[in-house]
Amino acid sequence: MGKALSTQRKGVKLLLAFVSMMVIGATPLAAAPAPLRVVMVPCGPVPAAVLDFMGNGLRRELGAEVVQGEMAAVPAAAYARRRRQYRAEPFLPLLALRRQAAGDLVLGVTGVDLYVPELNFVFGLADPRERCALISLARLDPAFYGQRPDPRVFEERALKEAVHELGHLLGLGHCPNPACIMFFSNRLSDTDRKGPGFCPACRRRLQ
Ligand code: ZN
Ligand code: ZN
Repeated sequence: MGKALSTQRKGVKLLLAFVSMMVIGATPLAAAPAPLRVVMVPCGPVPAAVLDFMGNGLRRELGAEVVQGEMAAVPAAAYARRRRQYRAEPFLPLLALRRQAAGDLVLGVTGVDLYVPELNFVFGLADPRERCALISLARLDPAFYGQRPDPRVFEERALKEAVHELGHLLGLGHCPNPACIMFFSNRLSDTDRKGPGFCPACRRRLQ
């Protein structure tokens, strides 16, 4: 009985060794987790220099692969004549169609001014369930406020809005740290103050 048990134990041990060898042996062959991919879709004409700056910044800040999709049309039905703005939500289903693989995040970038009901305007919005986000460049351009055009300021603001909305798609909420990219921007001075990167707490949450 005792012997039978020990033989059985030995058998279990051998089996475990075999299983662990299989697991260890399988590791190099197992598919590495796919790197995050962002499909950036211009909705209507968007300056190429801004898209390039954003693409490079997103690669750096998110460690993501960034590909640029073909330009999508701005949905005419989303235009609110009285406000001279476009409602933001109708862009999202169109962006979802631009996904190239199931895990992709899609980021729409448009030059038109966006709003959602009950807000005067939005810099951007994100739908984490659909893994789609949209940002508007309209109010990021110093020229919008009658200021001297400043491409660097414009591009940095665009990158910050993009990282912020993609942070939402990756599950982050707003952060109380005013230097963190996930801080809620009520006005442009909030955007200009924060960096394009995540604070250590948000970065931990991303992993
Ligand atoms: Zn936000
Ligand atoms: Zn944070």
